[in-house]
Amino acid sequence: MKRIHLPTVLCCLMIGLTACGSGSDNKGGRLMGEQNEGEQDRTGLRPLALTPLSLGEIRPGGWLRNQLRLQLDSLSGSLDRFWPDIMNSAWFGGEGDGWERGPYWLDGVVPLAFLLDDEPLLSRIRSYVDTILTEQDENGRFAPVGVDARYDLWAVFLVLKPLIQYHDATGDPRIPASVEKALRWVDDRIDRYPLFNWGQFRWFESLPAIYWLYERSPDRWLLDLAVKLQAQGFDWQDFYTRFPLTDPTSKGKWTYMGHVVNNAMAVKAPALWWRLSGEERDRTMASEMIRTLDRYHGQVTGMFTGDECFAGKNPSQGTELCAVVEYMYSLEVLVSVLGDPAFADRLEKVAFNALPATFSPDMWAHQYDQQVNQVLCSIDPDRNWTTNGPESNLYGLEPNYGCCTANFSQGWPKLAANLWMKTADGGLAAVVYAPCTVRTEIDGIPVEIDVETDYPFRETVKIHVRADRAVRFPIHLRIPGWADGSVIRMEGEKEISAQTGTYSRIEREWNGQETLTLLLPMTPRASRRFNNALSIERGPLVYALKIGEEWKRVNADKPHRELPHGDWEVYPTSPWNYALDLSEEDVAGLSFMEFPLGEMPFSPENAPVSVAVKGILLKDWRLVNGSAGELPLSPVQAAGETVDLVLIPYGCTNLRIGEFPTLK
Ligand SMILES: [Zn+2]
Repeated sequence: MKRIHLPTVLCCLMIGLTACGSGSDNKGGRLMGEQNEGEQDRTGLRPLALTPLSLGEIRPGGWLRNQLRLQLDSLSGSLDRFWPDIMNSAWFGGEGDGWERGPYWLDGVVPLAFLLDDEPLLSRIRSYVDTILTEQDENGRFAPVGVDARYDLWAVFLVLKPLIQYHDATGDPRIPASVEKALRWVDDRIDRYPLFNWGQFRWFESLPAIYWLYERSPDRWLLDLAVKLQAQGFDWQDFYTRFPLTDPTSKGKWTYMGHVVNNAMAVKAPALWWRLSGEERDRTMASEMIRTLDRYHGQVTGMFTGDECFAGKNPSQGTELCAVVEYMYSLEVLVSVLGDPAFADRLEKVAFNALPATFSPDMWAHQYDQQVNQVLCSIDPDRNWTTNGPESNLYGLEPNYGCCTANFSQGWPKLAANLWMKTADGGLAAVVYAPCTVRTEIDGIPVEIDVETDYPFRETVKIHVRADRAVRFPIHLRIPGWADGSVIRMEGEKEISAQTGTYSRIEREWNGQETLTLLLPMTPRASRRFNNALSIERGPLVYALKIGEEWKRVNADKPHRELPHGDWEVYPTSPWNYALDLSEEDVAGLSFMEFPLGEMPFSPENAPVSVAVKGILLKDWRLVNGSAGELPLSPVQAAGETVDLVLIPYGCTNLRIGEFPTLK
């Protein structure tokens, strides 16, 4: 990661795409057109495999629009009206927090407001952005930023992210000038005060802003700044090359290196750096980092544990919400930079499981830490978290610490903004499937793509393509790695078989309206996990035991906990300690029931899919320190009555078991 090769390097790179499909104009494969993937573009940076559309070109539809609307009408869209850290943020002209919380919140609500075109939130955002810009001094320092040597640059890197998104949606000409001034201020400052703490471990979060400005005006000093930041920053690539944190962190030991959010952010660092270095190792490192995280700390949700540092594979350990949304953002960047559809598979898994599970269904309350086996949410000083506090798995306003309260807003909106991207061969790629409408131009001709689907709860995705005039371009449809037997149908044409783990390329002259129907068969799958426990997945969804819940209000006397933004403990009202009477081979034959999608599909009572299984109570598997005790090693011996159990999507649960012991 330390070496740089300047533009002479030409390496022939594969981005994991192979030919598939049938017929001459329906080939799977390359997203890069005729370009050499390793070649730097004329600006000196390697080009993106997939270019995100501008904010506003994608509009969420169906259940996704409802979900964003829920977010807007609950905690996320209300924080600036009552939560002091946002309402009085020093970034927005107040006397309060001048560190990461204002920028974190803005990074999520800027895309939220533009995706929904919500004028009340937009007008508040305009005034916050105006304040940030007008209070920036002539040297580029933003108002809340400290001048002394102890000021950590992390919040400066962070605030550039929402400013660039705001520019993307509005074209506000003040933003490029502001970003340039800020980066010149950083450049000057790090000569005297090198990076430390958060700024050092998150140095690469500055690269999207540096590249964005460089692509608009390719001045050499910007790439020199990137090199200086990289040289002063933590070397994540070397760290993962001989990864030392293979064990759960000892209780009480907090480190920057083992910090769950830092690692969730860092998986994109080498790929971002690759755009400048061109080194093959930088390009391939993200996949290796993800394999390492899965191997030592992975969870069935696609996340890894960290409460707040790495906590191993035990499903009773926690994962911080900031890590969930930052991992999603990293995966969105990775799929854009490198194109590999495996990153989008992972993005869907995290987005459709870990993200919704960690909120109350109405999104007024969230957790700091979620557990895959989460049987009780309560205030408990004896939890086995590595360093987090007694309130970490409550559903509430700011359980444990308020970073997630400010940062979670980016999860759903950025997913929606990255559903489709532009390809280097002049077409469009479906990166993640969810209901939406894309309105863009291809060769100057307006094109509309309307995605009609209840995916991830259903197997069918209908894609209506409308072109005002005849225009030829390819559409690349991502075929998930799990979707064996996928087919694409077009009216009056032969069905096309699509290969998993690739993009299926459909190129033709589009004129008027045509409809593609994509069938992604969701055959249930089993995996063996911690202590040989069994987990069940179907499509991008993980299935978990539905447990009866009783919500009990707590902390009512604490400031700012007036309803609807109160804190809640959740108690189980039905047993959770079952072993499943199910083998891995049985899983493929399970039959899943479908129910209509309601206004809150991510809730236990409105789960759009469920499956019935059988199990036996394990009397010795009990609560220990507030969590499900050590998961019994499967297969287990158990006698007793076999009972019917219901599993629902993990994202619909608040209490659950996601990794089950199984019977002999
Ligand atoms: Zn957090």
